[in-house]
Amino acid sequence: MREENCIFCKIANGEIPSATIYEDEDFRVFLDLNPATRGHALIVPKEHFANLFEMDEEHCRKAIVLARKIGSRMMEKLGCDGLNLVQNNGEAAGQTVFHFHMHLIPRYKEDGAGITWQPGSLTEEARDELTALLAGN
Ligand code: AMP
Ligand code: ZN
Repeated sequence: MREENCIFCKIANGEIPSATIYEDEDFRVFLDLNPATRGHALIVPKEHFANLFEMDEEHCRKAIVLARKIGSRMMEKLGCDGLNLVQNNGEAAGQTVFHFHMHLIPRYKEDGAGITWQPGSLTEEARDELTALLAGN
């Protein structure tokens, strides 16, 4: 299913051209227009899911397997030193396009891409509260 006026629906389904590096029945992988580093690409399903929580398990499984496949191709062909997978859900998390996508960001020593955060510290109180709140199988 596609969503009208969704740019990634249009790109994934080939209605808008993109710098595609991989395509199959379910996904398209194309270069990000505003790359964090050389080779930055996006894994995008052809079906519209606004975010991770809307996506079915089969697509979730396929997305991570595909990330490994394209990621290892990047490691080999780009000579990068590492790779970040970034997947934002919700405006507060930095999501700007509300069609699921996973960033593949090749990393190079001292590339200054700054995909990081300020580490805090886990207090005993927070640890106990959070494990009680979140624990479960
Ligand atoms: P996010 O902030 O996680 O929602 O990421 C959206 C990403 O999509 C950004 O890195 C944008 O640079 C990228 N982007 C937006 N429009 C396009 C486009 N037409 N082609 C390629 N990348 C795009
Ligand atoms: Zn869409």
